Amino acid sequence: MSKKSIRQVNLQGKRVFMRADFNVPMKDGVITDTARIDASLPSIRMLIDQGAKLILASHLGKPKEAGDPAFSLKPVAMKLQQRLGKEVKFFATPEVVDDSVRLAVENMNEGDVLLLENTRFLEGETKNDPQTSALFASLADAFVNDAFGTAHRAHASTVGVPTLLPIAVSGLLIEKELESFEKILEHPKRPLVAILGGAKVSDKIRVIENLLTKVDKLLIGGAMAYTFFRAQGRKVGSSLVEEEQIEFAKQMLETAREKGVELLLPIDTAGSTVFEDIEPTVYGDVDFPDDFRGMDIGPKTIELFCNALDGAGSVVWNGPMGVFEMEHYSTGTKAVAIKLSTLEADTIVGGGDSAAAIHQLGLEDKMTHVSTGGGASLELLEGKELPGIAILEDM
Ligand code: ADP
Ligand code: MG
Repeated sequence: MSKKSIRQVNLQGKRVFMRADFNVPMKDGVITDTARIDASLPSIRMLIDQGAKLILASHLGKPKEAGDPAFSLKPVAMKLQQRLGKEVKFFATPEVVDDSVRLAVENMNEGDVLLLENTRFLEGETKNDPQTSALFASLADAFVNDAFGTAHRAHASTVGVPTLLPIAVSGLLIEKELESFEKILEHPKRPLVAILGGAKVSDKIRVIENLLTKVDKLLIGGAMAYTFFRAQGRKVGSSLVEEEQIEFAKQMLETAREKGVELLLPIDTAGSTVFEDIEPTVYGDVDFPDDFRGMDIGPKTIELFCNALDGAGSVVWNGPMGVFEMEHYSTGTKAVAIKLSTLEADTIVGGGDSAAAIHQLGLEDKMTHVSTGGGASLELLEGKELPGIAILEDM
């Protein structure tokens, strides 16, 4: 399962096509969070130091029209230039690869960096069209994938190009993501505890199934918990429930019993009669009134979950414990995040919103690993092999 990375190859003098994840949030042409750019810097710096001729590629958002300036990678080129303290060549061309790009690549020296325009300006990108892949591959001698956030997508720049080049390895970010998930899923320090939350059971069906074969304890919070409450025959008022998943939740409760996995559900719930950021009411382990909607785990559950985490060897967390976007309902999510930050255990956070919660709290340095890919990390937790990774050379 281990894949070769840029540590195991020498790319000096080679033209390297590196697929990065520069899909950064933007507002009015300004990058509002540079985390993804920053996460790619170690690989970029290593390739510059190796003396590669570095051609960077990424998508940004979902442009409907090639060349739409709102989706241009120009701001990313400027930011990269700032971070690296060296020139990053960039051509704002809707064709992505045109004659000026070709000429610039021909004239690159070792250690030079060029960023291509948004790969999704080409229709063939998301279709994994062979011509688009060939166009990209024609620029380079080697392929590096460091775009963990899109590794679960089979696109031209993620799986097409590597099939056409003699060298295809991962960057340092993908290497770290893989090592972290492999460790926790394949040979974790035990006990291994998983915390699952978020909005929908249906998003996480395979994650729940897969984790139940691996963990010692499973803590379930977030809206997901209410479908499990229903599976236990409880009334959950106006809380979010997926009726069609109640049967699945029943099965999972049964599977946990069979496998001897300790499955903990909330014992109290904070919520309100309106979906607004106001002072919560808390109900215990009872049927909720019809107009009550659960929006967070309650104080007793926080204590229960924190105690369950004491002495853990490894923890994997996906999905917030409540509507953490609202101050009054962020208590459970914050408490779990802070608890994780105090543990000796290996701690991994996957999922876009859970990672956002960790970043909001500034706790990323206290975790063993906070994944940079929402969807991609979920697929790893499902036990799937990601196409953008499967295609890379094995160790
Ligand atoms: P992740 O991105 O970490 O995988 P999800 O996308 O599955 O997480 O879930 C995040 C969403 O779940 C958040 O928008 C949050 O508001 C919502 N959520 C969590 N708890 C509840 C709840 N009790 N009721 C409604 N929404 C909830
Ligand atoms: Mg999400």
